[in-house]
Amino acid sequence: MKLLIIDDEQSMRKIYAALVKNWGYEVLFAADGLSAWKILGVIDEPIIVLLDWVIPGMDGIELCQTIKGGEKALQTYIIMVTGKKNDADDVVRGFEAGADDFLTKPIAAGELNCRLAVGRRTLTYQYELEQRNHSLHETTKVMENVMRELSAANSQLKELSRIDEMTGIANRRRLEEYLSQTWHCALRKEELLTLVMVDVDFFKLYNDTYGHQAGDECLKKIAKLLAAGIHRPSDLVARYGGEEFAIVLPNTNSDGGQTVAGRILKKIDSLALPHKNSPIHSYVTISLGIATMIPKPQLFYKTLVEHADSALYQAKQEGRAQWSLCVD
Ligand code: GH3
Ligand code: MG
Ligand code: MG
Repeated sequence: MKLLIIDDEQSMRKIYAALVKNWGYEVLFAADGLSAWKILGVIDEPIIVLLDWVIPGMDGIELCQTIKGGEKALQTYIIMVTGKKNDADDVVRGFEAGADDFLTKPIAAGELNCRLAVGRRTLTYQYELEQRNHSLHETTKVMENVMRELSAANSQLKELSRIDEMTGIANRRRLEEYLSQTWHCALRKEELLTLVMVDVDFFKLYNDTYGHQAGDECLKKIAKLLAAGIHRPSDLVARYGGEEFAIVLPNTNSDGGQTVAGRILKKIDSLALPHKNSPIHSYVTISLGIATMIPKPQLFYKTLVEHADSALYQAKQEGRAQWSLCVD
C-alpha cells in the first residue's frame, strides 16, 4: 500500500523513512501542501497520508479538507500529526476537517506501526466494499436489462396468445376477454352493446370442392374483409372458431349493428369468391346474427352470445346470405 509522508522538515522525513522502511509500504514524500496535492492528483489507488499539522503553502488542516472534499476522499486515509500534546480543540478541528486519525510527535515506532495498520485495514475494507458495490451495481444493471427484455417478450407473447395464427385477427380468447370487459363497461354506463356472429355458408362444401388449403385462404380473405368492415377503434373482429367470426360493437344500437352487417354483406358480394357447388349462389356467402342488449347485473355476456347465435341460426333457416336480428 502507498504511504505519503508530508513534512517540511527533512530530518523528520528521514526519521519516518527509517521507521517505516521494513513495514511493506511504498513510501512517497512531500515537503509542502502543494506538492503533496500534486502527488495525490496522479494517484488512483488507496493511500495512507501522514500529514503534518504545520506545513508551508497550505496548512495541514486546509489540505485535509481539500482531500476529503474531493473525489478521492474514500481512498485516502489521513493521519494528522501534531507537534504538541493533543489538546482537545485541535483533535476536534482535525476530525472536523476529515482526518481519520491522530498522532503526536515524538512518534513512537510501535504506535505508528499500529495506526498505519488500522489505516491499511480500513482502506482495504473500503476498497473491497466498493468493488462489491460496483459489481452489485453491474449485476443490478444486467438484471434490469434482463427484466426489461423479459417483460417485453412477455407482452409480445401475451399479444401473440390473443391473435389467431391463421387469419391474424383476434382469437377466441381475446374475444371473450374483450366481450367481458365491454359488457361490464356497458353495464356501468347503461349503454347498448351489439354483437354480430358471422358464419360462412356451406363451407364444408367449399372445402370438399376446393380442398382444405383453399378453404384456409378463403377464411383469411373473409377475416380481412370483416376487419375492413368495422370503423370505430372500440370495435373488434375476432375468429370465434372454425369458419365462424364475431364482431363486438360497443355503445352501438341495433341499427348500427344492421348497418355493419349490411356493409359486410355488400363487401362479400363484391369480393365474389367462387363457390361453384354452393346450393344458393355461385360465390361464397355468409350469414350474420345480430344481438343488441343493455347489460343487466343478473346476466352474463354469454347471454349476448346466445342471442347472436340464435339470430344467426335464424338467418341460416331463412335461406342464408343475409343477416337476422335477435328480438328479445
Ligand atoms: P352452414 O351453411 O350451415 O354453415 O354449413 P357449413 O358447411 O359451413 O357448416 P358446418 O358447420 O357443417 O361446417 C363448417 C366447416 O368449416 C367444417 C370444416 O370443414 C370447415 N372449417 C372449420 N374450420 C376450418 C379451417 O380452419 N380451415 C378450413 N379450410 N376449413 C375449416
Ligand atoms: Mg359453422
Ligand atoms: Mg358455416
